[in-house]
Amino acid sequence: MHPGRDDVRVVRADAGHGPPACGVEVSTALCEHFDRSRAELYEIVMATGLRTFSSIVESHGRGRGCDVCKPAVASMLATLAGGHVLDGEAATLQDTNDHFLANLQRNGTYSVVPRLPGGEVTGEGLIVIGEIARDFGLYTKITGGQRIDMFGARVEQLPVIWRRLVDAGFESGHAYGKSLRTVKSCVGTDWCRYGVQDSVSLAVALELRYRGLRSPHKLKSGVSGCARECAEARSKDFGVIATETGWNLYVGGNGGFTPRHAELLAADLDTATLVRTIDRFLMFYVRTADRLQRTAPWIEGLEGGLDHLREVIMEDSLGVCASLDEQMARHVADYADEWAAVLQDPEKLERFTSFVNAPGAPDPSVEFVDHRGHRVPAGMKQGQPTTVPELDFGPRVIGGPRLPVRSSREVGV
Ligand code: SF4
Repeated sequence: MHPGRDDVRVVRADAGHGPPACGVEVSTALCEHFDRSRAELYEIVMATGLRTFSSIVESHGRGRGCDVCKPAVASMLATLAGGHVLDGEAATLQDTNDHFLANLQRNGTYSVVPRLPGGEVTGEGLIVIGEIARDFGLYTKITGGQRIDMFGARVEQLPVIWRRLVDAGFESGHAYGKSLRTVKSCVGTDWCRYGVQDSVSLAVALELRYRGLRSPHKLKSGVSGCARECAEARSKDFGVIATETGWNLYVGGNGGFTPRHAELLAADLDTATLVRTIDRFLMFYVRTADRLQRTAPWIEGLEGGLDHLREVIMEDSLGVCASLDEQMARHVADYADEWAAVLQDPEKLERFTSFVNAPGAPDPSVEFVDHRGHRVPAGMKQGQPTTVPELDFGPRVIGGPRLPVRSSREVGV
């Protein structure tokens, strides 16, 4: 018999919060199937040792779950229990992107993003990626996170593409997961005359350390080799900027709907202390944030804000640091490439098909058109222009013999 919910001591980041200032009680329930918030449910799962969604919803929730609580619990179990995200019951909990370990695009095809730690890639690696893009007719784009995104793969092509990538030494970039995406870096002391620290080596080390870490939302990072900040580290969930004597650590930055600069958490750290502090920052976030809450609003929601966070992860004010350290050490030790594992498992490979009754048959509704020399979804055929008229610099008549005249109503004035 599992301990009931009252038997579990819940360590909350916002412990001590009173009622909201406006006097309105806001529900923090995860969804209609769980009365607990994500953070509370995480502590329950951690304390009870429950390791399947069925047992968790049976003992601490109700019903069969939904597309809110299932991926949330899948994320918790990925961190707490390890194992492959498509193992057994876990496969049924994942959202569409995690389900196929790829990002679903607007025309029903998927994008493929191999990890390029720190943004580094060899000439040989580029050739492999180029050959795959050419052979499968994939649209290829450099991302903002310093890696290469290949668009337009049909679901049954994903394992074939990943077989070639894995054979060439690439691994999943987790672009599909609520997990670490990239650690962007500038060239640092290797190449730059202004660099004061080796930003690339640190970025590579951080990306390899935290790859695959499932979290409440995506995680981005950056490392700059000096205060000029070419890697834009302060726009990341955790960013590092080199100093003459060590590293400054900034946390809680992001772009997106509400851009925010990261704030200085600690200055002039040596590398070991820096990594330990990031370990704890990430694990405390994974443990206590709400579902789909980025690090910036999470820090804002902490009573005491950044000062409280500093006390918890640098001074161990809650006595949780040993547990956070142990959890991160387990994550690092247990990491395995998700795509390499799929390629070795015939059962998992079976899911990569457009039609269950015709494995390998391509979806005939997927069409492409040529645009600027690239293959893109056939939006034109569905009445959706794929060009921006103002930016179409092809030949055009700028003054004919007759100029069209439109009424103010036609132009919406
Ligand atoms: S951040 Fe500094 S070290 Fe890095 S590329 Fe820019 S100027 Fe060079």
